[in-house]
Order: sequence, then C-alpha cells, then structure tokens
Amino acid sequence: MSIADNIHRIQQELTGTSAKLVAVTKTHPIELLQEAYAAGSRIFGENRVQEMAAKQPELPADVEWHLIGHLQTNKVKYIAPFVHTIQSIDSLKLLQEVEKQAARHEREIRCLLQFHIAKEDTKTGLSLAEAEELLQSPEFRAMQHVRLAGVMGIATNTTDEHQLRREFRELRGYFDKLKALYFADDEAFREVSMGMSSDYRLAIQEGSTLIRVGSAIFGAR
Ligand SMILES: *Cc1c(COP(=O)(O)O)cnc(C)c1O
Repeated sequence: MSIADNIHRIQQELTGTSAKLVAVTKTHPIELLQEAYAAGSRIFGENRVQEMAAKQPELPADVEWHLIGHLQTNKVKYIAPFVHTIQSIDSLKLLQEVEKQAARHEREIRCLLQFHIAKEDTKTGLSLAEAEELLQSPEFRAMQHVRLAGVMGIATNTTDEHQLRREFRELRGYFDKLKALYFADDEAFREVSMGMSSDYRLAIQEGSTLIRVGSAIFGAR
C-alpha cells in the first residue's frame, strides 16, 4: 500500500464521523510529506520543534501544522510565526509564553490542553483539577492571542480494548465538563484529539475529532 492508498483508506473511514486526520510525519523526510500532501492531507503533526520549523517552509502555505509533542517554553518562539495548533499545552507557564509569542507576531495560536489519561507514569499531561485552576486564573482570562480549542490525550500503549475505551471516555468526559463550565458559548472549543494508528477506530467511536496517525500511513519509524 502506498502513502496515498493509506490516506485515502483512512479518509474513507472518517466519512460520516466528526473526526479529521492529522498525518503524523515526525522523523520522515520532506518527500514523504509532499506525497501525503499530494494525496490530500492538509493537517500535519510533528513532535519536535526544530524538525517542524525545518519542514514548514518546504510545503505549501495551506498546511495546518500541529505540534503534538512536549514543548519547552524556550522553544515556542521557533514555531510561533506559523504553527496552527499546539496540542500539548500542559502548564499555565507554557500557555503564557505562547500568548507572548503569538502577540509578538500579531496572530492567534490555537491550543489544546493535554490531559494525563494513560496508566503509565511516563506520559505527561494535566489533571482535571490542574486544568480548571489554569482556566480560572486571571492570567489565562487576560489572554488575547491564545485560542483554547479543546483537549488532547495519549492513551496507554496496550491492546486491551476496555482500557483504551475507558481512557478515551475519560478524556471525552473532561472535554464535556470543560465545555459546559467554561466554553458553552465558544464554538472554537470543539476538539477532542485522541487515537493513533493502533487505536483510532476505537477513539472515533468514543468521540474523537482529531486522530493522529503516523505508522498506519507512512510505515514503521
Ligand atoms: C508519534 C505520535 C502519534 C502517532 O503514532 P503512530 O502510532 O505512529 O500512529 C500520535 N500522537 C503523538 C503524540 C505522537 O507522538
């Protein structure tokens, strides 16, 4: 199966659902991104700042670049001129830096709050209490250039379908709660980013709006 075949097959599976495909291109050379673009992909996910900043000028301007990996505060400036969505916001301090850099470039940057849903200590993210503290802070309320658009989570690396569903439901529940309490009138707050190559079908059934798929499109890394 070619990259184009894989993308078309997944796009077909998404027909009639509320989910969009983020093609996760980390570690892959620019030629493969161009192949994905030619096959219709317009949303690309990278997990490292330098790699994304190097690839961005090589692709057409209508690509939406999503940062999906851990982001250090001192690196926000490298992607602030072009990044469409930062999916991995895990602290108020990071969000404050995004606000500052977005203001400097007179643009809005879409952000998702990353939640800790996996039963593995290695995976980072906020708890619901931490997210609420962030949303209630005067610092967040004063922000003009950050657009909070939803939540993101990485499930446990397991084949246990019940556990995966439980984790996806947990994230969907956080989204519903935050939507009702803080964003009821805000149409922009609408994304639930969950599901990867091995579990995106389950994630879609549990209400994903953004699936992040790498190896099922490009092969093993
Ligand atoms: C690499 C990565 C993915 C894609 O993983 P695949 O298993 O290759 O689909 C999704 N989300 C995040 C956060 C990643 O780092």
